[in-house]
Amino acid sequence: MKFKRLSNSSLLILCLITLLFYSAVTSSETVKTDTSTSEQSEASEATTIAPNLDLKEVAPLPEPIPEPIPDIVDEPDIDDSIEKLESQDKDEPVIKKIPEEAPALNTQEIVREKLVILGSEVPENSSTRLAWSPQITISGLALPTPVLVINGANPGPTVCLTSAIHGDELNGIEVVRRVMYDIDPSKLSGTLIGVPIVNLQGFQRTSRYLSDRRDLNRFFPGEPDGSLASRIAYSLFTKVISHCNYLIDLHTGSFRRNNLPQIRANMSDSKVAEFVGAFDKIAVVHHAGSPGMLRTVANQSGIVAVTMELGESLRIQENQIDAGTHSVNSMLDKLEMYPRTFIWGEPKPAYYESLWLRVESGGILFSEMGLGDRVSQGDVLGVVTDPITNQSTELVSPVKGNIIGMAVNQVVIPGFAAYHIGIESTQEAMAQVETDQIPSDVNTDGEVIDPE
Ligand SMILES: [Zn+2]
Repeated sequence: MKFKRLSNSSLLILCLITLLFYSAVTSSETVKTDTSTSEQSEASEATTIAPNLDLKEVAPLPEPIPEPIPDIVDEPDIDDSIEKLESQDKDEPVIKKIPEEAPALNTQEIVREKLVILGSEVPENSSTRLAWSPQITISGLALPTPVLVINGANPGPTVCLTSAIHGDELNGIEVVRRVMYDIDPSKLSGTLIGVPIVNLQGFQRTSRYLSDRRDLNRFFPGEPDGSLASRIAYSLFTKVISHCNYLIDLHTGSFRRNNLPQIRANMSDSKVAEFVGAFDKIAVVHHAGSPGMLRTVANQSGIVAVTMELGESLRIQENQIDAGTHSVNSMLDKLEMYPRTFIWGEPKPAYYESLWLRVESGGILFSEMGLGDRVSQGDVLGVVTDPITNQSTELVSPVKGNIIGMAVNQVVIPGFAAYHIGIESTQEAMAQVETDQIPSDVNTDGEVIDPE
């Protein structure tokens, strides 16, 4: 009898404890975000707390948090999109300004806000893997794209690294991995967001383009009811890029051209010019940027953005990856986000104005100079030999400079841009360069030379 009474009261206590424990667990898993602390669209929704994961450990791909699917509108044909893209040259694109200005390089004055991204709250001093999905269900292409987030223990700016917007550009993917997986959140001031492979569709097909053969890097900021490329661009920009104060978009040379590690930046923008000064041992080339390009649109939205070019597409180049990783790490050190003991002194890039040397006669290109070589006026950079007539034509440098980009040996036709020659300049001189209306990677006759 006595035993039975004791059992009943124990059961009651056990039930109470279970109930209390359950309510504690559910309240810690789901939090209502304070709308006053976040400008993002997720702010008004319930968010889950992202699990704190050691990014160095192998983990399965995360699932995206379900979001409402937008109404499907008939996709406009390619001609419409091209017309629209061209019209962007004339009319200023409508770009929503991101209210927060990039904080000054001195991080002490930054007020810390709760980090809510992709439907998850990432607590301070933690790192996690999230998933971004552009919700392109019409094509069955809603691939969850991994997004790595490290929220540091201390306040600071948010730096974003994006790679493989062109799916065949591989070096940047490895740079993002090396940088992100080498960070200890407890020593980080600020936040790092890395999207190693933005264009998963292209990456899976070893293609520069999306599955509809559009170049994603010409469709920013995008529209929610536009073409496939426009929708993907819109989704990435609103859900991920809008969180960034600084953005480094990693690329490689295209169409069988190899690039010396270099930053392309609009040096007429004083904030961009200041940011570029934080990168060590890398060439800096002034490029205003093309309409629809991620860095152009990010700049217009108040994000300090640059492109980093590393090597050649479809290749994994160890020296290029090393150089890119070193340069990004030097920037994190200079921004006082992640101090390291480096063997160099003050981080310092090299500034270049540039020109392209073109092939005058068709044939097979054989280079006599390599990437990064210093050249003088009159130096022979390569020879083009016609395989039928056996006639050879020398390609002679018109200036003194460095080879910052060059075509790999291949069959070339007259007019082909074979060598990108950097002419040493200064940060001050580059800031004076007029930003004209001609997109940076398109020649005056409309030819795309080395698109980012
Ligand atoms: Zn690219």
